Amino acid sequence: MKLATRVVHGGERRSPGEFHPVSTPIYNSATFYYDSLAEIDRIAGGERAGFMYGRYANPTNQALEQAVAELEGTESAWSFASGMAALHAAILAAAPQPGDTILCSRDVYGATIALLLQVFQPMGVRIRLADLNQIETLEEELTQAAHPVRLVIVETISNPLLRVLDLDAVAAHVHAAGARLLVDATFSTPVLSRPLEQGADFVVHSATKYLAGHGDVMGGIVLTHAADAPAVDAVRKLVGGMLGPNDAWLILRGLKTLALRMERQCANARRVAEFLKGHPEIDAVYFPGLPEHPDHEQARRQFPDGMFGAIVSFEVNVRKTTDGSADLPTEVTRERIFAFVDRLKLILPCTSLGDVQSLLQYPLIASHRSLTPKQRREAGIRDNLLRLSVGIEDAADLIEDVKLALGS
Ligand SMILES: *Cc1c(COP(=O)(O)O)cnc(C)c1O
Repeated sequence: MKLATRVVHGGERRSPGEFHPVSTPIYNSATFYYDSLAEIDRIAGGERAGFMYGRYANPTNQALEQAVAELEGTESAWSFASGMAALHAAILAAAPQPGDTILCSRDVYGATIALLLQVFQPMGVRIRLADLNQIETLEEELTQAAHPVRLVIVETISNPLLRVLDLDAVAAHVHAAGARLLVDATFSTPVLSRPLEQGADFVVHSATKYLAGHGDVMGGIVLTHAADAPAVDAVRKLVGGMLGPNDAWLILRGLKTLALRMERQCANARRVAEFLKGHPEIDAVYFPGLPEHPDHEQARRQFPDGMFGAIVSFEVNVRKTTDGSADLPTEVTRERIFAFVDRLKLILPCTSLGDVQSLLQYPLIASHRSLTPKQRREAGIRDNLLRLSVGIEDAADLIEDVKLALGS
């Protein structure tokens, strides 16, 4: 069945009784019992599947996990209380030892880098950050590393410049070097790509974003092939980042419209990107759907026809003269960007993404706040860069909102 069908029906279970709920109930139960202790013994011993304790598994969570697993083409999925909890668990499941190296793409989600540097590095794991959008850099890092690279971490679509990796090539290089590949696929969702089928060992989603899609719940998902399932299962049981069943239900509900939402959001993003591209008050537009984006061909090859994600990043002209090419001091740029964002009436200035509402984020004060000016320059993030997560509203209204805020 096609994805748009599977998002609606995936994971839903029929009750054994005389009626069948259309929507999986929320099992607000911390523990489960059976008619005989022998049954519990069999479940505890792994002889049969079953529910015992809420930190191990819950029927509502399992419906969600099964639904996402089906979308990704696997049978192994786990839900977590947040995207970061999912990422942490996936890294632990890859079992980096003291002295091992984790190689991470430089332009991943800021908290991912902070997690590596502040949690894993103090445990003796070596952390290397590099521009893995260049396949030559990846090759060099893998072959010339003084210490074995255990794990490589990348995102399908990077943040905020929206670079798109050649995932098949990345996976081939990573496996040739004997390392494992963890892919954060939050920006692409299973609608755009299925990294497990392209060679990823671990896939992570912040379900807070597109999977749930309504800005009303937090969660994370880890997916693997069967061979890594026991490792992730053990980590979730022991570290305990289990998603609550109420939140699992909200995400499962949101998931049903994922295909519809993505279709609309990707189409809206294309229209907004086209509008911004032609606007005299916009210095630059970053969107993989534009032919001038460095990874346009890569995105066309990997994603379904006409879909390039629903995030558009752009630089606002804050100089207010057409000839002023010199960079303004950061404080002046900041104030002018603040004024532009404050003039928006519809698009919300929020730090999240992937919701039905359009959300605008300012990397300088949010996702990339902790970087030095030099680090930001190296990452290609200018002081006047904004990241827009395009929602499901009418594209004409979004364009009008930006137009008015730009003052033309
Ligand atoms: C938001 C996000 C995360 C973290 O997810 P939370 O649900 O906020 O913990 C990780 N990776 C990416 C790409 C994200 O956008």
